[in-house]
Formats: sequence, structure tokens, C-alpha cells
Amino acid sequence: MNTLYSLSLGETMRSCFIEDARKYAYGEALFVVPGNYFRQLVKKQGSVRTVIMDYLPNEILRINAKEKNYQRISRPAQEMLLKTIIKEMLEAGELTYFEPLADGDGFVKNLASFIGELSRSWVAPEELDRAFAAWEGRTDRLQEKDRELNKLYTTYRARLQARNLYDVDGLYRLAISFLEANEAKLPWKKLYFSEFYQFDDLQRELIRALSKSCDIQIGIFFDGQRPELSKATLNAYGDLAGLDFQVIKEPAKIKRAGSLAFIVENWQKMGHKKIEPQGITLLEATSPEREMAGVITSIKKLIAQGTNPGDIVVLVRSLTDYAGFSDMFKAYGVPTSLPQVTSFSGQALPDFLVKLLKTAVNPNKVEAWQNLLATEYCSELYGVDKAKLEEEYNSKFFPTGNSLLAFLKTAFPAASLDELVALVKNFSKKHTGKEFVDILSTELAHWDMSGRAGKAYQQDAIDLDRIKILAGCENFCLKILQDMELAFAQSGKDEEKITVDEFLTIWLDLSKDATITLQKGNARGIQVLEAANVQGVTFPYVFLMGLREGVFPKIKFENWLYNDKERALLHDLGINLQQTSANVAMDRYFFGTALAMATDELHMSYYADDIAGPSGYVEEMAQYFPPQTWQAEKFTITGNNCAGKQELLNFLAQLPQLGDKEQAWLTKELGKNFSLKKTLDNTRWMGESPYNGKIGGKGELSSLSASALDLYAKCPFSYLVAKEWKTEAWEPLTDEIKPTVSGDLYHLTLARFLGKHLQEDLSTLDSAKLMEELHKDFREEYAALVEKGIITETPLSEQEKKFYWSVLSKWLTKEISYQEGETVKLLPKELEVGFGLTDSKWPALELTIDNKVTAFSGQIDRIDTDGESYIITDYKSGAFPSGSDIAHGYALQLPLYALALENLCNVATEKIWGAGYYALKESRRKSGMWNKEKNSMLPWLATGRSQDYGEVMEKAMGQIASIVRAIRQGLFPAAPLKNCPAYCPGYDICRYRLNRTLNLSEEGDNNERA
Ligand code: SF4
Repeated sequence: MNTLYSLSLGETMRSCFIEDARKYAYGEALFVVPGNYFRQLVKKQGSVRTVIMDYLPNEILRINAKEKNYQRISRPAQEMLLKTIIKEMLEAGELTYFEPLADGDGFVKNLASFIGELSRSWVAPEELDRAFAAWEGRTDRLQEKDRELNKLYTTYRARLQARNLYDVDGLYRLAISFLEANEAKLPWKKLYFSEFYQFDDLQRELIRALSKSCDIQIGIFFDGQRPELSKATLNAYGDLAGLDFQVIKEPAKIKRAGSLAFIVENWQKMGHKKIEPQGITLLEATSPEREMAGVITSIKKLIAQGTNPGDIVVLVRSLTDYAGFSDMFKAYGVPTSLPQVTSFSGQALPDFLVKLLKTAVNPNKVEAWQNLLATEYCSELYGVDKAKLEEEYNSKFFPTGNSLLAFLKTAFPAASLDELVALVKNFSKKHTGKEFVDILSTELAHWDMSGRAGKAYQQDAIDLDRIKILAGCENFCLKILQDMELAFAQSGKDEEKITVDEFLTIWLDLSKDATITLQKGNARGIQVLEAANVQGVTFPYVFLMGLREGVFPKIKFENWLYNDKERALLHDLGINLQQTSANVAMDRYFFGTALAMATDELHMSYYADDIAGPSGYVEEMAQYFPPQTWQAEKFTITGNNCAGKQELLNFLAQLPQLGDKEQAWLTKELGKNFSLKKTLDNTRWMGESPYNGKIGGKGELSSLSASALDLYAKCPFSYLVAKEWKTEAWEPLTDEIKPTVSGDLYHLTLARFLGKHLQEDLSTLDSAKLMEELHKDFREEYAALVEKGIITETPLSEQEKKFYWSVLSKWLTKEISYQEGETVKLLPKELEVGFGLTDSKWPALELTIDNKVTAFSGQIDRIDTDGESYIITDYKSGAFPSGSDIAHGYALQLPLYALALENLCNVATEKIWGAGYYALKESRRKSGMWNKEKNSMLPWLATGRSQDYGEVMEKAMGQIASIVRAIRQGLFPAAPLKNCPAYCPGYDICRYRLNRTLNLSEEGDNNERA
């Protein structure tokens, strides 16, 4: 007699069924469950064979030796097959409605799911066709959609049939027809179906077919008094009752403590009374991490009180909402059933493979090669020194992959580049899917990653976790290749040549969500389960997490191929497809069963932030308790609830005062200056903090360049990073001309041009010829930089050249007018004259400060003279110091040049009229320090405001001495003159931004040094 047991919320027939099954010989009874969790649970009892529902059709076919007659199609093969069908229909002009979507992977995946839905609903293509034909009020456009969809479905089903392939739904249909034809011999006398809340049409048909030859018992929740809660099981219950199952209402048996019994009994019933929330708590956290920490903290407390970890369960709606949960358990020393995993695609081997394939997609793209060559495995397997190579990117620009490879061959002769290039070349060709798989499999064997990892482990170069990851990655790569091979064969694409791009797309699709298991879960640890997968089990302590809007209940979006409205109309036409409201009902049921799992204590929790707060379930629950009696406890870390050692250390370290014992423990764990370390980020900025760039010095400073001096004046810490540590910002060359390169181009051109006109008054020469001459010099300097690989010719080069030339031509026009206006003809005499540099014309400028000599170096762009008086010019193609910076002694380049001229060229101070900048882009002289008495003699001084030469020199001398003393003492505080430039090499090191953010709220946005 087939029996349907109608159960109360949270109840199960599992134990009764297992007991009943003992009456049968092993193999005569079969227990069918929805998932692996229950299969293991029943298996432990050891008295009855157990299968997961979707394996039941296979089981029927296997027992009757029919399994060889079919082959199950894999999901990747299904998608490949659908892609082929879509492509064929597009080429035949049969897809117009779906044409704009047809290229997207999302369309194929949605289509595969929708076809699965149709299949599980037992909808044959002819039925769908009939329903579409009978659909009234459908627009032409939507009829087009229906037609195309039905053609896709029909073709897909026909292709499977032609290849003798079956998807899961096909296997159900096969098993049902086999049973219907009375051809199946079944060993079972009794079948038990336990822990289900729904059966789709195919499953229900299979049960009906089985019920003709086996005695079937099913337990399912249904409560007529709670219609909302029973919506999830109503269809299954109604369908089975209609199959002549005898319905027996089972009384509730589970005993629950405190208020739990009342809640479970009255959940979703109208007109219930209110009770005290005994044994039911609510915790609020500020992030998923904090929520996890709060829950583990509570669990630790329970275990410390003697609770058996096996009596505790953690329930979440979806584990993907709590990434890193397993690591969190591990960090806090609590065992869990969750395995420790890490992402596959983020690991070195898959990263290398993907970059290898991407390079094969674009073998002439330099970025693809650069990415590939920067991988860990490229260095290891092909011997390219990636650090050295990256340095080269700073000085050389490679416009194409070939130019980079040509360079690599000469720069790294020992590397096995030919092998790598040959591999990329091979991948670039079209191959069949199987050939691609073979090439990659051969390479994997050749690379022998596991063997290498083993050797590295023996040499203590890597730890066990790393070995596990490496081995796991290699195995998973091989698995993907196997899956691909099967998918190519099953979808009929095994003989078809494809591009590496297509191969890469499939690889990425199969690997994107994969994880590598580092450590299996501890079966005796805390169980963490998804609420949708368990019901009818009880635990004394249940932690129900994620009661946050959008998390539990889970947001479900309407299917966009056929929306809820269309589904409702199709339902009236006999096509039964699920609507979003069914998901809401299911979610409500999952929550009810989760509540019912707790027998002693139920601990609910959520995290709330600006985006979302507690879910509606929390509000619903609060209605069972008197007002204000059930409120969320906010989770904060205190000395009493630290879940792990590290958290306790952090917590204690923040306390202003500690007891002797704590002080001793923290000193042991964190070092004796732990209290100082914790306040360092704040105190280092206070007053003359010893922690702000004070590294101590030897009291010596033998040499200093003008640019280093200026850098120190701008920010001592940036000087330390750039000049002492020599950590210049790494920046690869690109096809864009950088300001430093354009600056060089201007300097070189002007030096070349003026070098031919030293001491000549340009205003007396033919300006057109001068212009022509300058243009020629410019073209030659530009070509020389191209030749050296410093500038790259691109389609934009002509435009850029025009711009540079316009700057230079304006300079010449202005220079002529300046020279014309000079009362005393101070004309160029020295150009690009260096001092203290290797092979420079002048020796270093030695200044004695505190009885010690420091040698200064620099390069003066231009010195003009009439043989008696002198001026210094510095060309600037970008920003230059303001008058105020010069006046305050923060711009020391010009004063240093003036000192060099005075001391190294024996020019008396009074003969130097001044020094200034030439702003090339503005085509005029600007700023500087000048002897004001000479204003009338130099045209650019007539109207401008300039700093007094004598005053600036006096200030600068003092400043130079201070800087030299500070460097000798090793003082390099992070103290920028103005806003920190984004290109500063100390930007990510000095932590000044942190300080600035803290200070802004108190002091406003004024960080200029006084
Ligand atoms: S980022 Fe600012 S404070 Fe830090 S080193 Fe550079 S200029 Fe100085």
C-alpha cells in the first residue's frame, strides 16, 4: 500500500522508515533522499541502500543492464551543442528575435536552464508548439520569439536523440518509459522517499511508474492550517494524494525546550499569543566577517561550557554569502565540517596557462607577452628573469610583441625562449578541440609541476599548503581538459577546427568558480549547512545566520526569457513553469524548517550596514514576543568574547592600562614595545617625533646633486625614498612621450641650435633662416631619440611633432625679441654645462658646512654673458617653483647654479645679475632671482615681479646648510611642502596620506609647511 505521511513542521519519517526497512533483506528496500547530506546520514545506520533522487533513473537502468544504451551528456557539452545550434540557425537566418543576444554566453546558459525547465516539466516540443499556437493576443514579435525558442528546443532534443545522449531529464524519461512498458525488473519491494519538499513533474511521473510495482512510502510536510507555509509542498502533496496514496497524518514527536516548541507549533499561524523569548537570541553585526566572528565566539562559549560540537549546527541560506568562513573557524581554533578552500583561477598555474593562451590569441600584442613573461611559471619554466625584464621596460619601449621577443633573445640568451615562442605559435593555429587538449596535456606532463613542487618542498623552499595548492591546480587542470575533451566529443565538435580564443573561452568558463581544497572538513567539527539542503533533522543548538534583506529570503529575479506574466499564461495553456512567487514560498519554508531544527537554543544573526538591514523574518519573529523583550545584541569585540588569540592580542593592545599578567603576555607575543607600536601611526606625526623619518646618520654627506637638494626641500622623506633608497617609481615605457622625454627633446634641440650661435645676437640675423635651422635641428634630435628607442613613432607622432615644433618656434621668436630688447647684450656662452658630474666640464662645487665638505653637482642649461656680466637660465617644459618658494629657500637649484658660477668660474657675485626660468610652453622667461638694479636693462624684468637676488642667496645658503646638516643626522620626516604629488615614489610608503586624512577633519585642508 502506497502511503503519504503528512508531517508537521520540522518532523521526519526517516527513523521510522529506516526501522521499517530492517524487515527487508538488504537490497529489497531502497531509501531515496534529495542530497548527499541525507545519503550519508541514512548510510550511517547501515540497514538500507540509499540513493539521491537524480540517480534513481540511472539505478533503474543499471539494474536492468541498460546503462550501455545511453550516455549522459555533460553540462559543458550541452552548452557547446546549444552554441552550435544557435550558430547554425543564425547562419540560416532563422534567429531574428534572439539575434542580438545570440553571441553572449549568458544567453546560452539561460537557454540551457530554460530547456532544462521545460524538460523537467515533461513538456515535449509538440506540446510547446501547440501551446504557443493557442496563445491568444501574442504580438508578431513575441510569436517570433516563441517560434525560435521552440525550434531551438526541438533541434536540441533531436540532436541528443541522434547521438544517443541523455541529459538528467532525458534519463528520467527513459526510465519512466522503460517502467511503463513493463520491461524493467526491479529488486525493490519497498521504496522510501524522505526529506523532500517538492517533486517536479518528471520525478512525480517516475514515482507513479514505480508505485505500480513497489510499495512506496513518502514523508512530506503539509499543514492545512498554515497555507502560506505549506505552499512550497502543496504541489507535491496534492499530486501524490491524487496518485492514490493513502494519506496518514503523523503526530508531531520532536520535543523542544523553552519557547521553541511554541514558536515551531505556531509559526505562520494566525492569532497566536505572545511568549517570552526563552532560548532564542538575536545578534547584529556590522559586516559578514563580524557576524561570523560573533557566531564563532558564541559557539566557543558553548563548547567551553561542555557542549558537544556535534550538537551544534550553523545554517546559512547560501555559503557564497560567507566567503572565508572556514578560514575564520581555523583562525579561531574551532573545528568545522567546512573544507578549507582557495580559488583556482587566482593560482600561479592557471594564471600562467590563461596568459599563455591569451598571448596565442594576440601573438603580436606586446601587453599579452609582457603579462605572460611576468608570470611566476614563465621565469621557472623558460628562464626569463622577470625582475630584470621589468627593469628594462623602464628604459625601452616595445611597440610590438616581435620587437620585445627580438630584444629578449639578445638580453636573455640562456632563456628557452624559442620553446615558449614555438608553443605560443602552435596554440595560435586552428586545431580541433581534442588537439588543443592534447597539446596542453603534453605540456603539463612536460612541465611536471608536481615533481618540481616535491623537489622544492624537499629543499624547504615551499610549505605543505603550497604543495597541496600546486598539486590541486595541476589535477584540476587535467580534469578541465578531460571535461573539455568529453564535451567536444559529445557535442559533435571533436573534428571541428576552432580558434585558441574559442578554446580559451571554454577553459575560462569551466574554471571560473572552481576552488582547490586545502584541507578536508572535519566530520566531527561544527556542521555548517545551507538551509535549503536540510530539513527534518534536529540539533540542540542552531545558529541561523544571514537574516538580512536580500540574503535570507534570497532575492530571486524573474526569468528574462519568459517572465512571470508569460509563465502564468503558459500555465493556463498546460505548460507548467515555475514563477518567482514559488521561490518566495520555498524560501519561507526553508526558514520555517530552519527554526524547527533547534531543540534547545536558537541563535539568529544578521549583519546590517548602509545597504541593507535585518530581513522580514526578524520582524515576523519579534511578533511572537512582548514588545522590547527580544532585541538584537550588537556584537563588539571585548576581552570576554575574543574568539581567537590574535583577536585577544589586538584587543588588549588597544587598552590604555593592562594588568601585570596581560602586560607580560603581550610583551612575550608582540615584543616589549607593543604599546608604542600600536600608537605609532598617530604619535609619529606629533611634534619632533623620533618615528617620522629619523633614521640616524653618520654625520657625513660627501655629495649632493642640485635636484636631490630641491627634492629634500620639497619633502625630506621623498628624498630618502628616491635618492637614498633609490626606489624610483616603476613605470614602463609606452608609446606616449613622457614629460621627461619631451623636456630632453627641447633641451637637446636648443643646445644644438644655440651651440652654433654662441655670443651672437640673434636679432641681427635672418629670422627665417634661423627658423629653418632650428626646425632642422629639431627634426634631427627627434630622429635621434626615435633611433635610440626613447621615442616611438605612432599614428599620433605627426601631431605631437607639430606641437613640439610650435613650442620651439615660439621660443625662437621670443628669444629674438628678448635679445633685441636687451640694453646690455648678455648672449649665450655656456650650454648644458655640468659640474661635479662624470666627465663634466666643471668640477664639483665644494661647500664647507660645519667644517665638513660636501660636493655639489648639477647641470646649468644656459649661461649668458657679455664678458662682464652674467645671467643663468633654466628651461622648464613643465611646472617650476613659484616666487614664494624661491623667496623662502624651498627652490635651491638656481641659487646653487649661481654659487657654482661664482666659485667654479671665478665670477664675482656682483657680476651675476640673476638667474631665472624660461617657461617653454608659455614662451617667456618667468620667475627667478634678480638684481633689481638691472631691471631696466633686461626686457623680461621690466614688468614682472621677481625675488631679490641677494636676499634669496642669503636665505638659500642657510637652507642648503640646514639640509646638509639634516641629511648628515639622518632626518627624513614626511613633511611635504605642498600637496603630495601622485608620482612621488614615497606615496605608498610614507603613510602621510593616513595622517593627512586624520588631520583634515581637525585642521581643514591646509597642509602647507610653514
Ligand atoms: S607622498 Fe608626500 S609625504 Fe610622502 S614622501 Fe611623497 S611628498 Fe613626502
